[in-house]
Amino acid sequence: MSKHSRRKKGKSARRSQSQSTTSSENFEEGFDVTDDGPIFEVKTSKVMGRYMVSRKNLKPGDVILSEAPLVIGPCTGCKVQCLGCYKTLESSFCTKCTCGWPLCSPKCKGLGKRFGHSQVECAVLKATKSSKFLNYDNFEEMRPNFNAIVPLRCLLLKETDARSYQHLMTMETHNEIRRNIPELWQTNQRTVVDKIRIDWGLREYSQEEIHSVCGILEVNSFEIGQQGVNIRGLYPSAFLMSHDCVPNTNHIDEESTFRLTVRASTRIEPGEMITLSYAYTLQSTLKRREHLLENKFFECQCRRCSDPTELGTFTSALICPKCKDGFVLSSNPLDPEADWTCSNYNKCPGYKISAKSMQLLLDKITQEVDNIDCNDVITMETFLKKYRNVLHPTHYINLSVKLSLSQLYGRINGFLIDELSDEVLTRKLEICEEIIKVFNVIEPGFTRLRGVTLYEMHAPLMVLLTRQFERHCTKSELRSKLKKVLKCLEEASVILGYEPESSPEGMMGVAAKDALVKIRDWEKILGRF
Ligand SMILES: [Zn+2]
Ligand SMILES: [Zn+2]
Ligand SMILES: [Zn+2]
Ligand SMILES: [Zn+2]
Repeated sequence: MSKHSRRKKGKSARRSQSQSTTSSENFEEGFDVTDDGPIFEVKTSKVMGRYMVSRKNLKPGDVILSEAPLVIGPCTGCKVQCLGCYKTLESSFCTKCTCGWPLCSPKCKGLGKRFGHSQVECAVLKATKSSKFLNYDNFEEMRPNFNAIVPLRCLLLKETDARSYQHLMTMETHNEIRRNIPELWQTNQRTVVDKIRIDWGLREYSQEEIHSVCGILEVNSFEIGQQGVNIRGLYPSAFLMSHDCVPNTNHIDEESTFRLTVRASTRIEPGEMITLSYAYTLQSTLKRREHLLENKFFECQCRRCSDPTELGTFTSALICPKCKDGFVLSSNPLDPEADWTCSNYNKCPGYKISAKSMQLLLDKITQEVDNIDCNDVITMETFLKKYRNVLHPTHYINLSVKLSLSQLYGRINGFLIDELSDEVLTRKLEICEEIIKVFNVIEPGFTRLRGVTLYEMHAPLMVLLTRQFERHCTKSELRSKLKKVLKCLEEASVILGYEPESSPEGMMGVAAKDALVKIRDWEKILGRF
């Protein structure tokens, strides 16, 4: 099934609730300056490294920073793509640059551009005869060559933009930890270090230096790009935001300039840490912590991770098979090996499931979900029914299915909004209301997930209301219902108004604004609501 929220990666910082009060050892100036001083400052502690703290009272939507990248390029493991504009290429639709690397067309808009295929890069790739390793008859075999492109771009900054290079080299590498993960270190050695030094013969860059660049990219880069392009970028200050499984910011990247803009998603007080989530928030604690440990090299101990109920959202909870009304929760969510026990201590004393059995069960259910076609509403509903006595209604697996359903009802053939029965419309509404309660906790404020779900919620409300109007209901009943629609749309249009207009979320934002205008017409007929 498709994921609906892009996971953006960032810098790792070792942090925990108890550590978050660590006194700062020194201060740095914030990068963004407003009329009355910087918005944030950078603090340093032994445990957390550098992290970003607000100096202002910020409200949702306030811009914290907006900056151009230092470097961007293809993600590790990406498909064969144009080196200029990063469009994914098929073998029959590509041309070769003079350096021998693939382009979408000889007139690609990224040709000769700093954040595309620059002249310097082209000259180096040509001089090193790097294209002799590109087999145009086998795109699959060609893919690993792209892993070395961004590291090369970082190294080239040494000559072309020494300031950016120096700045980049101050970022965390986690070399000590990464060196002890043989699979990771050896893959980098083979596909990046040896590629640059041996295949391309660029011996002026040392092994250690290239491994450090790999580490900097793994730890600090952001996945960016609209509409299926697969690119990553390093930014001058955004990497300083530390991780939290309940983040207080939201960020977007601009399609043509790759500029990254970070906004507060909730209220942020002076002195409060500015955070983003490096893990997908619609995952269980076990999954998020596993991802963070493997990819960002730290063990998250945030408030959400430390609480077996995940702040009352029950996104990891199962329904107790024994008493049927307790919830099966981890006895220690910070220990992946800990047993799972029933929350109903009186009825189910001593009941437990081992971490291993729990994992097996979840793997089996996950596989089942992954096999559902991403437009198959009926099978999704059948799945929810099948596991209604096993998974908590807001278990993360159910949440992902419900998020899909919230967007499919009203949008796909056979389920277009005007064709839906009152019953199905009510179902869509019920799902939206259920999932937004969870999003209010794990992605609170002005976040993409909330914006999209609020938008989805307005549609069934509006259609149900129109039908009721036709069946005659009182003006005051209508007014109070319209008020609810208005509230959804107003918030959705503000939140989605920050998204790039060409993105699906941005288009939803435009639609929300149009719908608002129509509701105002109702207001004219009915009087203010
Ligand atoms: Zn191109
Ligand atoms: Zn070229
Ligand atoms: Zn956490
Ligand atoms: Zn029980």
